[in-house]
Amino acid sequence: MNLQERDKKHLWHPLTQHQLKPDTLPIAKASGVWLYDTQGKKYLDGIASWYTCMFGHCNPEITAKVAAQMQKLDQVVFAGFTHEPAVKLSEALMRILPSNQQKIFFSDNGSTSVDVAIKMALQYYHNRGEKRQVLIAFEDGFHGDTFGAMSVSGLSVYNGPFEKFFLEVKRIPTPTSTNMEAVLQQLEFLLETNEVAAFVYEPLVQGAAAMRMYAPQALEAILQKCKSYEVLCIADEVMTGFGKTGKNFASDFVQTKPDIMCMSKALTAGLLPMALTSCSEEVYTAFLSDSIVKGFFHGHTYSANPLACTAALAGIELLQTQYIQQQIREIHQGHLAFAQKIGQHPKVACTRVMGVIFALDLQQEMSRYGNLRDKLFDYFMSQEVFLRPLGNTIYILAPYTIGKEEMQQIYNSIESALEIVLNH
Ligand SMILES: *Cc1c(COP(=O)(O)O)cnc(C)c1O
Repeated sequence: MNLQERDKKHLWHPLTQHQLKPDTLPIAKASGVWLYDTQGKKYLDGIASWYTCMFGHCNPEITAKVAAQMQKLDQVVFAGFTHEPAVKLSEALMRILPSNQQKIFFSDNGSTSVDVAIKMALQYYHNRGEKRQVLIAFEDGFHGDTFGAMSVSGLSVYNGPFEKFFLEVKRIPTPTSTNMEAVLQQLEFLLETNEVAAFVYEPLVQGAAAMRMYAPQALEAILQKCKSYEVLCIADEVMTGFGKTGKNFASDFVQTKPDIMCMSKALTAGLLPMALTSCSEEVYTAFLSDSIVKGFFHGHTYSANPLACTAALAGIELLQTQYIQQQIREIHQGHLAFAQKIGQHPKVACTRVMGVIFALDLQQEMSRYGNLRDKLFDYFMSQEVFLRPLGNTIYILAPYTIGKEEMQQIYNSIESALEIVLNH
């Protein structure tokens, strides 16, 4: 039996209706921007395996450091103990995070980093003896699949069976060029109740909402309003963090800084699962007390795993090199030029670019996981390019280390897809 058949016996894949999609593609290895299947075919990883491997797969600088750490300290309980990889990582983060972020709390994935943030915000008010239990979030936001993260996510395709178990969340529309006044009015209406603990948002780019982008000025206005009502601002930078927007964090594009930030995905350079939630000194201080119950009693077994911390530290060091910063600028320029060109195509409704993120919407409507979307996916794979269209959006978010010719291969595959796949 080949790997694909053996897979079917016992494995249950994420985000998959197995009755409709029984087949999976066995991947044998990966290197740089390339994935290789067990048949020896290769695919350019145009979405950096869900925006994780931003420094390329199996990056030797990162794997060498993690291999060395493996010989030294593999894992230790992080309650009551500490270690150099965690301490060094916290110091490196202080150099790149907005300066009001002062404390780092570890967890395992993007969703848990959001749950931690929500619990921090709710307990912050609980500890202060204020009754604030409502959360505000954008209509089309995505924050993960655990209950807290699901509650604040607005993309309801995933949430149906669970909605009645959710936290209390009120929604505002994602800002556009025309709705700003209405958004601020709706926000004000919610804030005036004085029941709101926190506003949870993906800053400037909503990844799962098909790379929807909105203006820094709009976010600035929303954050200022939240702060004027003492509402904690929680930036979910799980997707946007670590250079993808052209700055270290999307929050760097606005003056008003979040009180709490969530990070994962590219945090560990795609090597190991880990996440963290950072917060301001003020949030942290609200948990200090002679009373034990005011502490934050949340803890994951693998908190601050030394290997994951080492990978994260190696990633941050790479991010700060001239080479990577130059690559980010060049990819951005390349995307702008491609957007200019492809934007004229009659089958393209619009394009958008932020940092190394490129997206285009097709003229034609299609369902999020419908047939045409599958045809596009298959066509890209036949061109040795792995892209994952979302609805009628095709987006690119390739590793920073991608070469010019490799990026051209992605652009070419999109251009030819417009002719070949969308010709009926
Ligand atoms: C992917 C993502 C999450 C969830 O992260 P997981 O590691 O999949 O749990 C949360 N927020 C945003 C913005 C994401 O893109």
